[in-house]
Amino acid sequence: MSDVRNVIIIGSGPAGYTAALYTARASLKPLVFEGAVTAGGALMNTTEVENFPGFQDGIMGPELMDNMRAQAERFGAELIPDDVVSVDLTGEIKTVTDTSGTVHKAKAIIVTTGSQHRKLGLPNEDALSGRGVSWCATCDGFFFKDQDIAVIGGGDTAMEEATFLSRFAKSVTIVHRRDSLRASKAMQERAFADPKIKFVWDSEVAEIEGDPKLAGLKLRNLKTGELSDLAVTGLFIAIGHDPRTELFKGQLELDGEGYLKVEAPSTRTNLTGVFGAGDVVDHTYRQAITAAGTGCSAALDAERFLSALA
Ligand code: FAD
Repeated sequence: MSDVRNVIIIGSGPAGYTAALYTARASLKPLVFEGAVTAGGALMNTTEVENFPGFQDGIMGPELMDNMRAQAERFGAELIPDDVVSVDLTGEIKTVTDTSGTVHKAKAIIVTTGSQHRKLGLPNEDALSGRGVSWCATCDGFFFKDQDIAVIGGGDTAMEEATFLSRFAKSVTIVHRRDSLRASKAMQERAFADPKIKFVWDSEVAEIEGDPKLAGLKLRNLKTGELSDLAVTGLFIAIGHDPRTELFKGQLELDGEGYLKVEAPSTRTNLTGVFGAGDVVDHTYRQAITAAGTGCSAALDAERFLSALA
């Protein structure tokens, strides 16, 4: 059993690195699969993070993640910038397979694979991310004080983002593909009653304009095909998230939207010895600090599970 690790962590955002830090400091020698392309997680794609406690003047997303990574490594976490491509989590000894086909074994697994925000799929979208284009009003709303903002989407998240943003913004325009909203009645009513919120119905974004910062949008009316300009300096895309749980289907219990189910307030999944943390579990808060918090909880849960085995 010498090749069986105590714990393998799959995913390397704030949840994964925090779980790595705690399990490393508990002398569990965690092995962390960071992901092949996006090691460091969602914050690698952003600029300034102003709401992670401890950084009075804010910190750039990639720098925050480099710090978390180095801190985990300092205490002995072994980090591999590779993807896990398959898992068997059902037995007492769990196995994960990397892209080279190597099988790694562990007594406990912590899943922190995060979630992917849905994109519009337009050319300028990634280039202007953090430069006017955002997926998170709680994270970035403050940067858009007294500005004209567009929110894309028609569900609860879009209404919540719009009503939150209207506290800071000069105006908020909700652009929706249909002529009615999918959001709950209460959320709709709050948005309709807000004097700063306007609606553009039956429309989609045809172009995101600006270089190096967002300068405006070209909208297409889906009924008439007509194009129009919307002058905004902020664009919040609120069309949903996809949790990265494909790998675990058929083994770990997922909710209706594909998020990993845990026995809250613990991080235990339906399988003994498997724990979940961060945005792969959380469709409510989706913040770096909450992901780090549950990453810590998962490490402590795994540690207690392993000491009960000993
Ligand atoms: P993630 O950060 O998504 O990390 C998951 C990791 O798992 C990724 O590295 C991925 O590659 C890896 N992974 C997935 N599948 C596999 C696999 N099969 N094998 C190996 N690895 C795998 N929050 C804030 O608090 N403040 C902000 O200012 C802020 N700004 C944001 C800006 C942007 C543009 C975005 C997208 C998000 C922002 N957020 C912000 C939200 C925050 O980034 C997330 O809530 C947080 O990163 C979630 O952490 P996580 O560890 O759960 O997952």
